[in-house]
Amino acid sequence: MNKIKIRDRIFEKFLGEEEILRKVREIARKIEDENRGKDIIFLSILNGAYVFTADLLRNINLNVKVSFMKMSSYSGDKSTGEIRRLIGLNEDLRNLTVIVLEDIIDTGLTLEGVIDDIKARGATDIKVAALLLKPDAYKGSRRIDYLGFEIPSDFVIGYGLDWDGFGRNLRSVYRIVK
Ligand code: 5GP
Repeated sequence: MNKIKIRDRIFEKFLGEEEILRKVREIARKIEDENRGKDIIFLSILNGAYVFTADLLRNINLNVKVSFMKMSSYSGDKSTGEIRRLIGLNEDLRNLTVIVLEDIIDTGLTLEGVIDDIKARGATDIKVAALLLKPDAYKGSRRIDYLGFEIPSDFVIGYGLDWDGFGRNLRSVYRIVK
């Protein structure tokens, strides 16, 4: 299906399932190559990153730990400019390589909050993996170590990303039709 309707909005297919999975496998290979022999923890940012996290992890052949944080900066289809910590972090991150997993980086505000928190937990070796980045909206200075796709600043759903709570189960990524 190329077009779908959720509530009052129409979305069209933008990145197909196969294309996404190919990219996830590529990211997994790169993470393996660059982090072999380290003690790694993946830190997945809920809600949206759970699908990316599950697919990426099952393609990684290293000993890794996984933990989750829940942050919220979006209300409807806009960034509020303010992040809220809904589930914090309890792990001691000293002596671990932390790889933050984000579904999508828009302004980069969420990522900045996450990085502050993990530094406060003692992490010194920090990397970031994101499936999607909106370069025109990104205000951060950190380079994304493992990136899937750069996309325009349109609102997207699917593959874990929602519109008003719906659409996370879609296997492809869809973008809003204006
Ligand atoms: P940032 O803090 O970088 O502005 O926004 C990051 C968070 O906002 C993402 O983790 C995601 O939850 C949400 N977000 C940003 N862009 C989109 C989008 O196009 N679609 C959806 N569904 N969520 C988005």
